Amino acid sequence: MDFQVQTVLSVSAVVGLLLAGLQLLAGWRLRQSCVFVWSLANLFLTAGCVFLAARVDIGLPASVLVGNCCILIGMGLIYSGIRVFDERPPGLAAVATVALLGTGLLGLSLWSGNNMADRVTISSILVGGWSATAGRALLQTPGCGPIISRVASAIVLIMVAAGYTIRGVGVQFGLLPLPGNGGPAEVLVVIAGLGLAICWTFGSLYMVLEKVASLDDLTGLLNRRAALQRGEELLRFARARRQPFSLLLADLDHFKSVNDRFGHDVGDLALKHFAALVPQSIRANDVAGRYGGEEFCILLPGAEAKGAFATAERLRLLVEEQLRDIGGHDIGVTLTVGAATYIPGSGGPDTIADLIIAADGALYSGKALGRNRTVIAQPPAGEAVSAPRELPGHGVIAAEPSR
Ligand code: GH3
Ligand code: MG
Ligand code: MG
Repeated sequence: MDFQVQTVLSVSAVVGLLLAGLQLLAGWRLRQSCVFVWSLANLFLTAGCVFLAARVDIGLPASVLVGNCCILIGMGLIYSGIRVFDERPPGLAAVATVALLGTGLLGLSLWSGNNMADRVTISSILVGGWSATAGRALLQTPGCGPIISRVASAIVLIMVAAGYTIRGVGVQFGLLPLPGNGGPAEVLVVIAGLGLAICWTFGSLYMVLEKVASLDDLTGLLNRRAALQRGEELLRFARARRQPFSLLLADLDHFKSVNDRFGHDVGDLALKHFAALVPQSIRANDVAGRYGGEEFCILLPGAEAKGAFATAERLRLLVEEQLRDIGGHDIGVTLTVGAATYIPGSGGPDTIADLIIAADGALYSGKALGRNRTVIAQPPAGEAVSAPRELPGHGVIAAEPSR
């Protein structure tokens, strides 16, 4: 190959800057702070490569230490951005600690024997470690969110981790040449690194786009399309494992009158407050979405009718107690919930469409029975109930879907 490693590194630096610029633009347009973090990561990685390439120009110790420190910060920020993407704290203390410790170790190695193979191994293990940690965080998919783009982005990061592990071990045992000789292997490594950086940037952007497209703007919950899609996936999973699965349809009572009495802004604020109450009443694996207007659907994998009833009642009571003072107005809104359950082999509803029809029927019964209650749809093959049967609290088992 005729390429000079310096030429390929210069191209990588320019592409790295362009990618960081693209991420800045995307982060600003999509209003997603994780993309800003990843943009910063690309800037650090680019700066790191430039410093390492300038080994001769600015003196060995400074360029090696600054370059490696930048690369460690950049890789740490990739992990940090993933945490922000998943709405977790960024974990910047860990990023700073690894960067400082790593740079300290490299400094020690430089001034005690200056063994380049040791330095390459140390930096490879740390960079590969960050990449593996970031890839692992992506694979630990939370209850909702993009799946395919997460896995694709994770594969890119795991390939980086594997590449660095091979490099660290290979150089340490003399199986791979030391960097800095400008040979064809080094050129290939730089080109592969650039390719992976491009794949990661576009994979992560696609991940963010998928996330943004799946969320409801006002409440931040999943939108109807994404919730139904997630429901299909979770139900398929439950069917394969012969586990129950419940679906709740929750509708705020007399919500039109909230808008009429206090204005649309207060209505919007109440919907946001309601969305914030939902996670307090469901488990980590449950999924909530805005089904439309002031109606929400909640997917409860593994929950039988009893569990679904308990969850619905927790939410209903939370609304009764806490959805009161909104923007200085006592809106006093209540909630009616319809629940339907898939029980393997019961002959009851066994598709998302069937569950929605059943839960909607139960919800309709709840409205007819006076609102502010939970109604469980009785599977057709279940015990015969001729009239709605009262449960403790405000619960009711409806005779059958009434719509
Ligand atoms: P019910 O107890 O029978 O459900 O009565 P309701 O008034 O809640 O139901 P209805 O279907 O008559 O009205 C729904 C109301 O929800 C009307 C609509 O203005 C309001 N709504 C739907 N989406 C939004 C929204 O995004 N923001 C606000 N502020 N109001 C909304
Ligand atoms: Mg309503
Ligand atoms: Mg409604």
